[in-house]
Amino acid sequence: MARPRIVIVGAGFAGFTAARELVKLSRGGADIVLLNPTDYFLYLPLLPEVSAGILEPRRVSVSLARELPGVKVILGEADQFDLEARTVGYTDPEGAKKTLGYHRLVIAVGSVNKLLPVPGVTEYAHGYRGIPEALYLRDHMTRQIEMADNAEDPAERSARCTFVVVGAGYTGTEVAAQGVLYTKELTRHRPGLKGEPRWLLIDTADRVLPQLDPRLSRAADKALHERGVEILLNSSVEQATAEGVRLRGGEFVPTRALIWCVGVRPDPLVAGLGLETKQGRLVVDEFLAVPGHPDMYACGDAAAVPDLTRPGEITGMTAQHATRQGATVARNIAASYGSGRRRAYKHHDLGFVVDLGGLDSAANPLGVPLSGLPAKAVTRGYHLLSMPGNRVRVAADWLLDSVLPRQGVQLGLVPANAVPLDSAFPAAMPNSGATEVKAQP
Ligand SMILES: Cc1cc2nc3c(=O)[nH]c(=O)nc-3n(C[C@H](O)[C@H](O)[C@H](O)COP(=O)(O)OP(=O)(O)OC[C@H]3O[C@@H](n4cnc5c(N)ncnc54)[C@H](O)[C@@H]3O)c2cc1C
Repeated sequence: MARPRIVIVGAGFAGFTAARELVKLSRGGADIVLLNPTDYFLYLPLLPEVSAGILEPRRVSVSLARELPGVKVILGEADQFDLEARTVGYTDPEGAKKTLGYHRLVIAVGSVNKLLPVPGVTEYAHGYRGIPEALYLRDHMTRQIEMADNAEDPAERSARCTFVVVGAGYTGTEVAAQGVLYTKELTRHRPGLKGEPRWLLIDTADRVLPQLDPRLSRAADKALHERGVEILLNSSVEQATAEGVRLRGGEFVPTRALIWCVGVRPDPLVAGLGLETKQGRLVVDEFLAVPGHPDMYACGDAAAVPDLTRPGEITGMTAQHATRQGATVARNIAASYGSGRRRAYKHHDLGFVVDLGGLDSAANPLGVPLSGLPAKAVTRGYHLLSMPGNRVRVAADWLLDSVLPRQGVQLGLVPANAVPLDSAFPAAMPNSGATEVKAQP
């Protein structure tokens, strides 16, 4: 390998940004290789809008080849690292095993669904991490409403119109807020479905959005209540079955839809490296380098990055941190080749935006709390600016959604067993009433 070769594993917020910045900094003097299972960068924060039928899935999937000229994109999933020989082993989309050598390595593999030892959850719940899950949920909600409309048994009808979201962080809150609007739209055309769909949002915390500014929690709580979402705080699911879920305290809620948004944990690949981890994340120093491995860096959800603004803590798993860490990694790798000076990662929180669907949002840009229309404008503007591509298409979908009714049809492209909560057990998922395993015709 005559030219420096920098291999980045993972093309999410951190890996995408690192690749883009490295191309600029290296000015053609290095090979930048990006290894990722898909040919797109997924803009995760807008995923709830895909399942609510506002955005088409390709809108949140930004082409790596188009947006990263000068980067060699390799499709595959890393599964082996030899840190002595400086190679990454990976499996390509057709199952072939291949190897890549590197001079500098960046681990940016993100995170996976967090699992809790709750009986039945692995079998009957679905997570929320990518396009397949978002498409599955959209179809599943549509199908349940359609089947409820045909059901003669009132108990079955009611169960099919009940949707349970576990986890009131930003993902669960947005999924419930957008989902309730989508299912209301579906039932509007079905006079046989008396009453509105029932949505429950459950969390062990004492407020929604427990990790965010309490003022955002209040705005989200108000919007959800106004839509009739039942918010069960200091509560949890103790058991999931094909017929429904049992809550802490014993109440049984009949449902066919359990959406698991309890958070994420680092990708298990990180544990397999045999290096030091903290809360499952790969330990790095403030320069995002792995101690003892000067040619290895990590960033984003996969890395335990010291938070210099909150001594003793590590940075949160957010897109904001991941993006900025990706840029810092690029700068520090360039510095390791003598171009510029390396810098420690230090980033003050610039606020958060939560899109609640309809005309509602909650946001605190630079610490200023906003709700309603001003928050909506800030939220949408923020997303458009943050997306590395597809902006006009996203804006066009938003515009169309504001003037046209949603398209409430299922495509049936994603069978339930293609979106298991725990990807370690894709084949072990049994069939169940909650998770039809056959793709719809
Ligand atoms: C539904 C949802 C909504 C969210 N909303 C917000 C929000 O509003 N604001 C916010 O700040 N944060 C939000 N987050 C969190 C934010 O998306 C993450 O913190 C961020 O994506 C982390 O960036 P990352 O680059 O570390 O990982 P990711 O963006 O997850 O990217 C990791 C990449 O690595 C790839 N990869 C994984 N394993 C391998 C492997 N073995 N080999 C090769 N490639 C691999 C993945 O396919 C992926 O492309 C949300 C998350 C979700 C799931």
